[in-house]
Amino acid sequence: MMDMERVNDYMARVSASEHTTFPPADGEMKVGLDLGTAYIVLVVLDGADNPVACEKQAASVLRDGVVVDYLGALQIVCELKRRLEQRLGRELERCAIAMPAGTESSARTHQYVAEGAGFEVTAVLDEPTAANAVYQIDNGVVVDIGGGTTGLAVLREGKVVRIEDEPTGGTHLTLVLAGNYHIPFAEAESIKQDYARHKEIFPVVRPVVEKMAAIVKRYVDKTETETLYLCGGTCCLTGIEEVFARETGIRTVKPADPFLVTPAGIAMNC
Ligand code: ATP
Repeated sequence: MMDMERVNDYMARVSASEHTTFPPADGEMKVGLDLGTAYIVLVVLDGADNPVACEKQAASVLRDGVVVDYLGALQIVCELKRRLEQRLGRELERCAIAMPAGTESSARTHQYVAEGAGFEVTAVLDEPTAANAVYQIDNGVVVDIGGGTTGLAVLREGKVVRIEDEPTGGTHLTLVLAGNYHIPFAEAESIKQDYARHKEIFPVVRPVVEKMAAIVKRYVDKTETETLYLCGGTCCLTGIEEVFARETGIRTVKPADPFLVTPAGIAMNC
């Protein structure tokens, strides 16, 4: 069973490391690079996995987990790395990377982006395995909803035994909001990320959230797992866990800040 208090405390520190640089406990720097459909994130941990610093940038250089704008991706990773190195006063040499489930064949391109930015890539993971480095679940299902996809991983005795990924993510929620309010995508995106407006927008995006839950239900049976563990930026949406619990009939939990779980877990594996 995941210790929610531990995860919440840890993720709060990872989030704080976006604005505060924490002194590392030792000389080691573990870096996780998450190249996502909606965001590119770099998380830095020390050798004991304590959060040190983090930088992120919204980007649309990937589609369905695949890099479609190599130079754009490279430019952003170089800039995030430069900012972190400036904050830390030292060079970052190594990083781990991760792929969404089912896109492992494009691992090379992810690796080229990291190497192009001057990193030596020490580990290539699948995203659910990375998320579980933070959660440390033995048995259960991790559901990762990012910008482009809803992914899930079934864990048995701490190992990922099955992964699935389908193309419905946060971007689809934003498109529905933009259409409903007759506003540009960027404006809809900022409304969606405003916690104060979640209650107002939820009825509008609910059918898409139900579709995400239906994807999970298609692959996971409640006789198979007692709990769904949510992560990924889209799971910041207030109330998403209740829709999942109702639609699947499976208890659903999420940490206070599910956005940086996968990037932090990638860094842990560096
Ligand atoms: P993918 O995993 O699909 O490649 P990604 O890695 O970029 O995408 P994440 O960084 O986990 O995905 O999440 C990005 C998504 O989370 C975006 O759609 C973004 O709008 C959404 N998101 C971020 N913050 C919030 C928030 N506060 N409320 C609702 N959605 C949010």
